[in-house]
Amino acid sequence: MKKKLVIAGGGHAHMVTLANLDQFVEKGHSVTVIGPSEHHYYSGMGPGMLGKTYKPEEVRFATKHVVEKKGGNFVLGKIVRIDAASQLVHLNSGGSLPYDVLSCNLGSHVPTDVIEGDLANIYLVKPIERLLAAQERILQLGRREKISIGIIGGGPSAVEIAGNLWRLTREPGMQPAAIKILTSETIMPHHPDGVRAKALASLNRRGIEMVEGCTVDNIRTGQVTEASGKTHDLDIIFVAIGVTPNPVFTASGLPVGPEGGLLVNRYLQSVANDNIFGGGDCIYFKEAPLDKVGVYAVRQNPVIFHNLMATLDGGQLQPFVPGGAYLLIFNLGDGTGIFHKWRLLFGGRLAFVIKDYLDRKFMKTFQAMEN
Ligand SMILES: Cc1cc2nc3c(=O)[nH]c(=O)nc-3n(C[C@H](O)[C@H](O)[C@H](O)COP(=O)(O)OP(=O)(O)OC[C@H]3O[C@@H](n4cnc5c(N)ncnc54)[C@H](O)[C@@H]3O)c2cc1C
Repeated sequence: MKKKLVIAGGGHAHMVTLANLDQFVEKGHSVTVIGPSEHHYYSGMGPGMLGKTYKPEEVRFATKHVVEKKGGNFVLGKIVRIDAASQLVHLNSGGSLPYDVLSCNLGSHVPTDVIEGDLANIYLVKPIERLLAAQERILQLGRREKISIGIIGGGPSAVEIAGNLWRLTREPGMQPAAIKILTSETIMPHHPDGVRAKALASLNRRGIEMVEGCTVDNIRTGQVTEASGKTHDLDIIFVAIGVTPNPVFTASGLPVGPEGGLLVNRYLQSVANDNIFGGGDCIYFKEAPLDKVGVYAVRQNPVIFHNLMATLDGGQLQPFVPGGAYLLIFNLGDGTGIFHKWRLLFGGRLAFVIKDYLDRKFMKTFQAMEN
């Protein structure tokens, strides 16, 4: 019997499902994909896009185009609530959609509690497409005068953003900006000393200032205030203070993990509803909590696709096995990177060449669906 599959969010964990959407349609199921943008941006290349190493079209998938080409429906909008009892998803437009099987890849967002007022000249590092607006604003201001840019947070995204801003503000006609990272601890506190040392050396060499031990209490347009009361005047502020899962699940009364991610079992299936699945940053994997890195979302792809098909058509569910250590390569924005996996750690041009090759290959694989 024809069933309704709803794909909530066309993120990194849904790529294989989107690539094979026609298989659901051929079996007589209707497929609806819901997302707030017609494109999905690949975060791994986001900082590089900010720094103009990549053009926007090189780092995004044409989600709507692919869905429609493969016989699905694309609904431009956001899911605000899931009514599991009635099997309905409610949208920000006020409408709702029924489902028999639902798969959620709704990602994560940067918390905004520390921000006062509107977001004029303040940029959260997610969604990735916002980095384009930041780029445009920086180019506009930086062609007129020397500007100051602050990045709040000290994790990998703060380091990559800072490094790539350095590159952006060296575009022809630009005045090199004064860039500083403000972080409560040191930078990259959860990474090995060797990674931190290489990142620090690269940022120091380029005159990017590091303000460590800085607990930010308040951010508003033009100014950051520390808990101590000390202020920093900044023309542009990036907020990279970590991410938290999409709040939809808490709002829906579904079982969630400690940060509000959809609580899923080893089949990436909601522990309360066997017709709801999820992947990527928006879930809490009950068996072993996962880092919020795209690597896990990508690894979850085949399991989500398989389990959706099995739930619609009958068949055994497949468990998700997170796998061992994952490769991380950071793009420092000056044509160099830092490569780290197991005990192998090195920096320099080769690290960036490897990242660039892998990222472009990943994009080409999925962009091929567009043709
Ligand atoms: C600057 C930066 C650089 C990073 N670099 C790397 C890296 O190099 N390697 C790595 O492994 N990880 C990296 N990460 C982490 C990585 O971004 C996340 O782990 C990854 O994006 C998770 O994928 P996802 O598909 O779950 O979420 P997302 O990529 O956020 O995708 C979620 C999707 O859901 C859609 N959506 C959101 N809300 C709704 C809604 N309410 N209704 C419907 N649709 C919705 C969004 O439009 C989006 O398409 C980086 C993160 C940042 C911020």
